[in-house]
Amino acid sequence: MRNNIYKKIYKIIKKYPIIVIARHIGADPDALGSQLALKKIIQNKFPNKEVYAIGNPSSRFKFMGALDKVEEIDYNQTLLIVLDTPDIKRIDGVNLENYNNIIKIDHHPFIENYANIELINENSSSTCQLILEFIFANHLKIDKSIAELLYIGIVSDTDRFMHGYTSVKTFELVAKMLKKTNINFISLYEPLYMRPIAEIRFQGYIYENLEITDNKVAYIKIEEDLLKEYNVDSASAGNIISELKCINEILVWIFLTEDKKNNLIRANIRSRGPIINDIASIYGGGGHKYASGARLISWAQADNLLKDLDNLTKEYLEKNG
Ligand code: AMP
Repeated sequence: MRNNIYKKIYKIIKKYPIIVIARHIGADPDALGSQLALKKIIQNKFPNKEVYAIGNPSSRFKFMGALDKVEEIDYNQTLLIVLDTPDIKRIDGVNLENYNNIIKIDHHPFIENYANIELINENSSSTCQLILEFIFANHLKIDKSIAELLYIGIVSDTDRFMHGYTSVKTFELVAKMLKKTNINFISLYEPLYMRPIAEIRFQGYIYENLEITDNKVAYIKIEEDLLKEYNVDSASAGNIISELKCINEILVWIFLTEDKKNNLIRANIRSRGPIINDIASIYGGGGHKYASGARLISWAQADNLLKDLDNLTKEYLEKNG
């Protein structure tokens, strides 16, 4: 059944001479890996097509490959493919009105319909996994560079195959890809996980200063002065948040980081029990059941978010012990 939609998407790609591939703001390895891999897949199969992978680059993941700028293109001849993005406000660098044919491929819970074809599989570990399925469903060539990008995206989004959406299918697809391409996947961990010592010291600060409520909610408020003191940026907390997954006293944890340049407070929220994305969406954010985020406008709003998450976790504990 799902194979049909992959075949349908392939047929549409075949028809268009120009293809723009976009993804969400705040590029991460799954978004970048799926985007850059899909670009290579299309270029390998159709060398005469113009294919652009667009959006703001990420300095941390620039080892994955370069992004393109779209200059003058004929939009009537262009297909837009948006990866890993459930809603319009999170699409990076695209005016949807320019396009009359749009395909969405995503593994986030559904938020809104903005494409002509919407391939959404919430149970997929990652968008890179969906791209792998697309490749195999259409018997497309997968070379080493494509496999490396997809492997990085899958490993990163599943946090090394630990998250709940990692499935037998994830392993089957990855194993098939590794057998076909024989990539040195061990060599990919170093560029993905290398971090500056400043960030490790900042991580130490977070561990020392986490507040934990009676309801097993851990949080920390990180003001810009602290980021300066530790010589890290406002995205650093996002690189550390997953490290708190296996702590007895914590069920839900939140990092609140001031980003003065953009006049907001970033919330990274994780859970190993209560479903948090509904609360994140009340604050204009969203994400997955156990991994969500939001951009807040003030510390007062951040306090309200903390209160809501604390109540949610309290209710969860009352029900589940
Ligand atoms: P992060 O904590 O930034 O790693 O985000 C965790 C998850 O929440 C990811 O799946 C993001 O797509 C989603 N997310 C993060 N920030 C937002 C936001 N402002 N709005 C909607 N979803 C978000």
